[in-house]
Amino acid sequence: MSTRQVVIVGGGFGGLGSLKALYQSFPKHLKIQVTLLDPADHQLYYPWVYQVASAGLTSTDPNFEAALTTLTTFDYSNWSGYKNTNHYREELVGINQDRRTVLTASGRSFYFDTLLLAIGSTHQDFSIPGLTDNSIPLKNLEDALKIRTSLSKLVVRAQAGEQLTVAVIGAGPNGIEFITKLAHVLPHYLGANCLGSIKLQLLDPASTIGRFLSPKLNQNFETRLTQLKIDLLLGRRLVGFKNGTGNFTLPNGHQEKISADLFIWSAGVKPWPITNTLGLALDERGRIKVNEHLQTSISGIFAVGDTAVVSWDGGISNPPTAQAAHSFSRIAGFNLTAYLLHRPLSSVPKKIIWSLICTTGGNYACGNLWGWSFSSRLGFSLRCLADLRYFLFSWSVFRALKIWLKGVRFFLIENKYGHS
Ligand SMILES: Cc1cc2nc3c(=O)[nH]c(=O)nc-3n(C[C@H](O)[C@H](O)[C@H](O)COP(=O)(O)OP(=O)(O)OC[C@H]3O[C@@H](n4cnc5c(N)ncnc54)[C@H](O)[C@@H]3O)c2cc1C
Repeated sequence: MSTRQVVIVGGGFGGLGSLKALYQSFPKHLKIQVTLLDPADHQLYYPWVYQVASAGLTSTDPNFEAALTTLTTFDYSNWSGYKNTNHYREELVGINQDRRTVLTASGRSFYFDTLLLAIGSTHQDFSIPGLTDNSIPLKNLEDALKIRTSLSKLVVRAQAGEQLTVAVIGAGPNGIEFITKLAHVLPHYLGANCLGSIKLQLLDPASTIGRFLSPKLNQNFETRLTQLKIDLLLGRRLVGFKNGTGNFTLPNGHQEKISADLFIWSAGVKPWPITNTLGLALDERGRIKVNEHLQTSISGIFAVGDTAVVSWDGGISNPPTAQAAHSFSRIAGFNLTAYLLHRPLSSVPKKIIWSLICTTGGNYACGNLWGWSFSSRLGFSLRCLADLRYFLFSWSVFRALKIWLKGVRFFLIENKYGHS
């Protein structure tokens, strides 16, 4: 049998999880060549992005940003255990179905016997006028560093006696983690005399927060936000910005203007525009449609993670979370092997109860595991263990432990004292 060529596009949760499962399932005596295409040279650990955005707000250390970057990004160059895998810093721009090649922005093409698309998503902007100029999204590392710089400037102004407001738009897990962490660490940075000089607002069009989970969990979130003195402004849909002020529509149709010194946009994700041009079947939101085997509309091409939507009668769908990207990536990896060896393909389970553990400032977390809702320090410990689990899925045990211990130690200190 000749060497089988596998191309994986995107080295995030879905791509790396699939790579590991592919190596676990592909027979050792057969030959395989894996090509990972990703314009980045590292995986970004999204669950710690909110920590970056709120860390060391008064730090004068010129290396602080670099330290945050090192803590949250993991280089692809260390492929311990993945023989015959090469990473190329290339961006997918097309697929030639007849030649079975992937085309990249630099003009190169890569042949595949089987292909996995795991390119993730970008932030959803709903084409809201003025959004880009008046707010910063909380999606990737660059965004988080921009937010951190803006917050550092606000802290200086607040210390000089100004009354300021930070508004986070989008009360999903991402927005909640960020604003609660901020509420917890700001007093460290402002000092006792300035307490309350940066007001925090959390806005959302829905009438309740954490809407996809249990009512008990929503209540836990609301209690925690109240404890941290965060204003929760629900039922407000952002429709545009004028002169730096956000215009919101209320459920009764009235308009409301809300001013803030910094708007942070945390309102979900959408697929990258490139998915429109690949010749694959998409759902109405532009995500690549895959069946229960994670196969796209073209034989031999699989997709997983935020970029894909599992659509099959009576079966579950996948939320845009690392948890879903990761658990389905195992099936994707096994199916890459099964496809190459003409074996039956595995299916995603018909039912999964997704869990959630969302940090809520100061080593606290609210969550829902197997139907049990909690808000506690124990929840925070569980969340730290969940982080370790992700690292173990993508990297060797030694590397996973190293990454985890370094990050957890740093952010635990940050939660307690702030970094200055
Ligand atoms: C701030 C933030 C915090 C989050 N926190 C959590 C959390 O705590 N728990 C949780 O379960 N989920 C969390 N999520 C969601 C989670 O990060 C995503 O669902 C998950 O990363 C999706 O995995 P993926 O493999 O589909 O995409 P990603 O992990 O984003 O990986 C996609 C990869 O594809 C690459 N890529 C993109 N375009 C191209 C292209 N054209 N060609 C080649 N490569 C390309 C990218 O560089 C990237 O490396 C968070 C998301 C954000 C934004």
